[in-house]
Amino acid sequence: MGSGPSGFYATEALFKSGKNVFVDMYERLPVPYGLVRHGVAPDHPKLKQATQFYDKIARAPNHRFVGNVCVGRDLTVTELREAYHAIIFTCGAEADRKLGIPGEDLTGSHTAMEFAGWYNGHPDYCDHHFDLSREVAVIIGQGNVAADVCRILAKTVDELKNTDIAQHALEALAESRVREIHIIGRRGPAQARFSNKELLELGELANADVIVAPEALELNPESETELADRNNVTSMRNVEIFQSFAGRSATIKRRRCHFHFLKSPVELRGRQRLESVVLERNKLEGSPFNQAARGTGEKMELPCGLLFCSIGHKGVPVSGVSFDERKGVFANEEGRLRDGNGTVPGLYCAGWIKRGPTGVIATNRGDSAATVNALLADLALLDSGEDRKGMDAICPLLAKRGIKHVSFEDWLKIDAAEVRRGESRGKPREKFTRVREMLKAIDS
Ligand code: NAP
Repeated sequence: MGSGPSGFYATEALFKSGKNVFVDMYERLPVPYGLVRHGVAPDHPKLKQATQFYDKIARAPNHRFVGNVCVGRDLTVTELREAYHAIIFTCGAEADRKLGIPGEDLTGSHTAMEFAGWYNGHPDYCDHHFDLSREVAVIIGQGNVAADVCRILAKTVDELKNTDIAQHALEALAESRVREIHIIGRRGPAQARFSNKELLELGELANADVIVAPEALELNPESETELADRNNVTSMRNVEIFQSFAGRSATIKRRRCHFHFLKSPVELRGRQRLESVVLERNKLEGSPFNQAARGTGEKMELPCGLLFCSIGHKGVPVSGVSFDERKGVFANEEGRLRDGNGTVPGLYCAGWIKRGPTGVIATNRGDSAATVNALLADLALLDSGEDRKGMDAICPLLAKRGIKHVSFEDWLKIDAAEVRRGESRGKPREKFTRVREMLKAIDS
């Protein structure tokens, strides 16, 4: 269930197992690829090439894409269990983590997921409004999603216009008056979660400078110990990159991206809408690699009209599956779903809904293979009866509920129509941003 990377890698592992296996891949949208389509930033087309590999899997005769069907809404988990020998949930982490501070719901305060969904043309977010007439934007969090948000805010239209960015976002960004972008980390530069490549990219923008105060790069002894660890080269390199940013002299570029460390937002302020964020200075406490940010009580107010909270994602519960609220994942033991009595043979999970929102696309390959190994080890426990009829059992239920499911061939029609729409604009595709448009493209 779910057609993002972990779903396709689980299918790959099942096909490689040598067993006679049929896979139906359920997806709530009419279009496949999950975060590769709607999460990966439009200016990172190489990452999107993963879909070429997924296409090969999808074209296998023993694979069926079943789009536009939402498990938990259109079908129950019980109905699926009655139709299949095993289910692997690969539905990702579709909700944002929130700060839980006063003022978080003010107009002008957004999550990175909303913004990324909007510029990537996700149907759930295409009607969101971001007031880009504001000059100062704040991003909370220093991971790769924060880097994506910063780049999209800081890039020029020329840098974005030939990507698959949604046209509504390109047009709004073309009018953007955002000048100052503040990227706030609650811990120090040695603990920032950016990949080196993503951090370097922020220093190479056509019309935006990166600003780091040299004194903000002073490290405590515990952080020095962390950087000396040979397994921590990414952080070591990140600090070197920050140092190179700090050594740059100012230019007259239109926008500026400021990195802040050891600061946590404690309140968002504003009368009708967001006007400022109150930040508290932190100090690090704990041993190397276990250092946590602790507030010092010293506060400062940063005026801003836009804020994007980019502090990670969490899974969304599905009725009939135990959920681990603390971790934001399905309750599982190495990919086997748990209920109150232990693991449940026949129910599995992989990807972000199993381990949480960590790693890059390729991380999901090993993770999904591990879940499939657990499934294969359980084969003797699974009902091998002939009465599991798969889509033959599900199609009548969908028909009765008036749900039109989308096949892979249908998706190829949507795909071709999107590519055609993009041609005149010099884009690889112009995505449909509404489910009804996607369904219409199948029939036209
Ligand atoms: P992430 O890497 O976990 O970063 C989350 C950031 O939020 C960290 O800086 C974290 O700081 C901070 N944070 C968490 N809770 C906070 C709080 N209460 N207050 C203030 N700050 C808080 O998450 P992400 O950026 O959402 O990325 C998710 C995954 O997708 C990552 O594995 C990432 O590498 C991957 N990704 C990859 C790419 C790419 O390859 N180009 C692009 C996008 C995403 P602490 O360290 O202190 O917790």
